[in-house]
Amino acid sequence: MIVVETFPVGPLQCNCSIIGCTETKEAIIVDPGGDPQDIVAMCQSKNLKIKYLVHTHAHFDHIHGSRAVKEATGAEICLHKEDDWLYQNLAMQCQMFNFECDEPLPVDRYLEDEEELFIGETKFTVMHTPGHTPGSVCFSLKYNENVLFSGDTLFSRSIGRTDLWGGSYEKIIKSINDRLMVLEDDTRVVTGHGPSTTIWEERKHNPFL
Ligand SMILES: [Zn+2]
Ligand SMILES: [Zn+2]
Repeated sequence: MIVVETFPVGPLQCNCSIIGCTETKEAIIVDPGGDPQDIVAMCQSKNLKIKYLVHTHAHFDHIHGSRAVKEATGAEICLHKEDDWLYQNLAMQCQMFNFECDEPLPVDRYLEDEEELFIGETKFTVMHTPGHTPGSVCFSLKYNENVLFSGDTLFSRSIGRTDLWGGSYEKIIKSINDRLMVLEDDTRVVTGHGPSTTIWEERKHNPFL
């Protein structure tokens, strides 16, 4: 069985998700943006071993807890290559927003579009959706329901900002229309901040689309 838990973490309350397989005890963490002790403790309480730390993009509020979780668990740090420069400039990002941070650890795996990661037999697919940042990705998870982890690309009734480093309004709109709006209506969308939504609701009510 697959369990998915989402809770806000860190300085900007980024949604962090734990996706765990109850048979193999393997887990993926999406966007460990802060509160690393809580993330590790929650996994320990469910007897889960973290295999991958995946990032929807390299803004500091989505990677703020990665170093500490990696040090505690040895999980692989995964990121799309086109956000590597942002990841390497974590200190500069934190400075701009007045937050303390440690230097990031090296990336263990560069994610590619359509790459598949597995926990047990459950597939977790990478979709490159540039626009909010050049290396922004979404993750799709298929088990008894379809779930999309959209990071800061798609929000409930909104889309990600494109005025930060490397952002592009044309690209984010194209990514959302070409890659996300074609998903099944009932796909549950776990966003980077704030409430979850569905593809159907956003197709119908999102004023940016
Ligand atoms: Zn962001
Ligand atoms: Zn964010």
